[in-house]
Amino acid sequence: MAEQAANPGLASEKEARDVAEAAREAEWSGPSFVRDLFLGRFNLDLIHPHPVVVDAAEQARADAFLAKLRAFLERVDSDMIDRTGDIPEAYVQELREMGAFGIKIPLEYGGVGLSYANYTRAIAMVTSKDGSLAALLSAHQSIGLPQPLKLFGTAEQKQRYFPRLAKGAISAFALTEVDAGSDPANLRTSATPSEDGKFWTINGEKLWCTNGTRAELFVVMARTPDAVVKGKPRKQITAFIVEADMPGVEVVHRCRFMGLKAIENGVIRFTNVRVPSENILWGEGKGLKLALTTLNTGRLTLPASCAGGGKAMLQVARTWSNERVQWGQPIGKHEAIAQKLALMAANTFAMEAVAELTVGLAERGKYDIRLEAAIAKMWNTEMGWRIVDDTLQIRGGRGYETADSLRGRGEPGIPVERAMRDARINLIFEGSSEIMRLFIAREAVDHHFKTAFALVDKDSTRQEKLSALGRVAKFYPGWYLARWFGRGTMPGSYSEFGALAGHLRWAERHTRHLGRILFHAMVRFGPKLERRQMVLFRGVDIGADLFAMTATCVRAQMLARQGNREATELADLFCREARQRIETNFSRFYGENDSAIYRVSQQVLAGQHEWLEQGIVGIMEDHPAPSGREGSRATKELREAEGAGVG
Ligand SMILES: Cc1cc2nc3c(=O)[nH]c(=O)nc-3n(C[C@H](O)[C@H](O)[C@H](O)COP(=O)(O)OP(=O)(O)OC[C@H]3O[C@@H](n4cnc5c(N)ncnc54)[C@H](O)[C@@H]3O)c2cc1C
Repeated sequence: MAEQAANPGLASEKEARDVAEAAREAEWSGPSFVRDLFLGRFNLDLIHPHPVVVDAAEQARADAFLAKLRAFLERVDSDMIDRTGDIPEAYVQELREMGAFGIKIPLEYGGVGLSYANYTRAIAMVTSKDGSLAALLSAHQSIGLPQPLKLFGTAEQKQRYFPRLAKGAISAFALTEVDAGSDPANLRTSATPSEDGKFWTINGEKLWCTNGTRAELFVVMARTPDAVVKGKPRKQITAFIVEADMPGVEVVHRCRFMGLKAIENGVIRFTNVRVPSENILWGEGKGLKLALTTLNTGRLTLPASCAGGGKAMLQVARTWSNERVQWGQPIGKHEAIAQKLALMAANTFAMEAVAELTVGLAERGKYDIRLEAAIAKMWNTEMGWRIVDDTLQIRGGRGYETADSLRGRGEPGIPVERAMRDARINLIFEGSSEIMRLFIAREAVDHHFKTAFALVDKDSTRQEKLSALGRVAKFYPGWYLARWFGRGTMPGSYSEFGALAGHLRWAERHTRHLGRILFHAMVRFGPKLERRQMVLFRGVDIGADLFAMTATCVRAQMLARQGNREATELADLFCREARQRIETNFSRFYGENDSAIYRVSQQVLAGQHEWLEQGIVGIMEDHPAPSGREGSRATKELREAEGAGVG
């Protein structure tokens, strides 16, 4: 892989890694079930019994708020919002009046003062009806100003902004730029300090800023002067609170998308915007860490949203599978559809288990949530997408037809087509699936990294290597031996889980297997493992499924104690299916086709297979489709290079 980025204006791969590494939370703020899981330790006690935070006064407020929200949503015309691409101001005003922009803001500042758990329940309910409204409320409260203000704001900043936000001053989170999507090292928006240090001048342009076209307040991540670390310059990113009416702030374009048609998203330009120093959040140079930490908890909302969306889809699929008769039977009786229905129910239960458990752990505190939250985001968005896809298939042609068109010819306007368009972005924003897997993989091997990395790092000193050797000798023999024995091999263990005990024994055994196989992969590939994404991501997927299995059993056991026996059936089916996926990932862990896949990908990149793209009308503006068998310049260059023996 090239060390220097193809475009010399962009950060090199090393710079990108250094910036991300400097911004990650190096210390663990508490224990983590998933962190242990990747080390081959199945510490069930960390997540079982299922955390329940009971605050009767808060729950009463939550119930009253959720009832108001439900009544409002029942009146909302979501097909009109989708059709016109705009959320009427009257809806926004009604949301303001019920406190929907200050759900988590403490009561003392005029907010509704609800817990994160009840906040995510509210957003899940909104998502089940309307994706654009969910984006408006969630971008404001999960990543917009209320969240970083709560985590990092000074008392004075909280006093200044919380009351405004609670009343409905909409906020936005502005990180992404044209060249800085997954890679914040390419951030170009700059903030320059005034000589007296009282002001900063911001210049630059932010892309795809949700709520940006309607916001009063922005959290803007900008580059500030480099710091010097070990004699070398290190890029600094700082977070600023920017008011939309400050001179020089301009919405230059409203972006429109495949779904979320009424999302208030745009390109925001900052030209010589003077921002007082007291508007810095947390501190100079801490902006990227702030953004990533905000996302760690901020991304707990999407998993709950996906579970809410999954429930709405399940209701549609169940009703239609009963009503629709083809080939002499309701379609739900035909095995192909029956199979989809069963798995939709089991997977929706698992999504809810993952989302509620993760939020419960975050609420309980003294727990480092970053890995659980990342898995919940990645896993629930991918599962949620599959559920929308299956629902569309079950609805057949009606799934593909718009709600307006269905209504226009006298059928109920069931908006599966809209749900599908709205759901797809979930796998991309707030950390794409690939970036989530990279993040999880990095955190998963953190313990090994801290223990042994200095041994193989070419930059480490002799002293550092010696200390690493000491750590390795102390940790690995005992740890490795213990990965071969555990409760999972003891018949009768986990008996409090009744019919699900066998799944937990299986999960315990395969957690140890995961710890061993990741260790073997590290020994096999050394520092090169970080580039073997196909291998690493299989490990991540095994860990994610093991977490989902355990979360599902823990939730089913809690529900069984409350008298709900049906949940055990769903948890059992979910675990059976998850076990098959895990076994497949173990059996092809090193991916015997990985090299062939990568080789062909590089041939495709070099244009060697452009011949395959003939016979089409190109849809790439400014990129004409290849016209002849000779193919493009890139293909010729590759052939010449191969001829010269350098391919
Ligand atoms: C509707 C919408 C709303 C948004 N809202 C906001 C917002 O409010 N605030 C904000 O700041 N941003 C927002 N974004 C931006 C969003 O977070 C980015 O789209 C996202 O971070 C991905 O960046 P990108 O689209 O530039 O993809 P790129 O970074 O260009 O990535 C392209 C593809 O390559 C993959 N990829 C990239 N790097 C790697 C790697 N190292 N290894 C493996 N795969 C890799 C990605 O996963 C992706 O599949 C929004 C975007 C959309 C579309």
